[in-house]
Amino acid sequence: MVGKTFIVEHLDPELGPWSELEYIAIAKETQETKGNFLLSSLPTEFKVPAALNGIPAFKPEHRGVEELYADNKAKVCLLDPAAAKDLSPEDGETFDAFLFGGILGDDPPRDRTSELRRKGFEGRRLGPKQMTTDTAVRVTRLVVQDGIALDKVPYVDFPELKFNAHESTQMPFRYVTDKEGNPIMPEGMKELIQKDADKSLDDLI
Ligand code: SAM
Repeated sequence: MVGKTFIVEHLDPELGPWSELEYIAIAKETQETKGNFLLSSLPTEFKVPAALNGIPAFKPEHRGVEELYADNKAKVCLLDPAAAKDLSPEDGETFDAFLFGGILGDDPPRDRTSELRRKGFEGRRLGPKQMTTDTAVRVTRLVVQDGIALDKVPYVDFPELKFNAHESTQMPFRYVTDKEGNPIMPEGMKELIQKDADKSLDDLI
């Protein structure tokens, strides 16, 4: 298997705890599948979390993707929810690098991927539903590295996360599922979601 390069262009002003968990998950899976993970456009004062620094496949980068790929832009595919064409296994032969917006999912989606679209990279869609950035990278890897057709990847849409008998929350995204049919999420994400839900409840009281 030839590992691809996955570039997440960091578009938020800082690295929040949700993004950190997503980036750690991307780095670990990219390491296991022999690829490279570039986190580009990082502000100069950005402190790389220790958990990311220890993963060899991960490379922090202050330059933006436009500068990094100025001479071979045609080799970069932007994963774009508004692209006209869906990603296919053949795209693994056309492109060397796959570019994602380092943006937290929002509901309804605000189309911040347009910031990258404007730079003129060729775009591909991962189906009609919004995914988290780590899910989008996971699906892209399954398609372009493992050759699985997009509609053969096992998904669950808008799963409900149950915390206990009384508390649950519905996630407004599409996720890849594991063998048991559960949504694959970064380690620690469920706990973080529950903590945030409890916090907003406390704020209301
Ligand atoms: N609401 C967001 C926006 O403002 O564009 C979507 C952000 S999504 C959480 C983060 C990144 O994952 C996107 O920038 C895109 O690269 C990728 N992504 C998520 N769902 C996708 C889809 N259905 N098709 C293609 N790319 C997708």
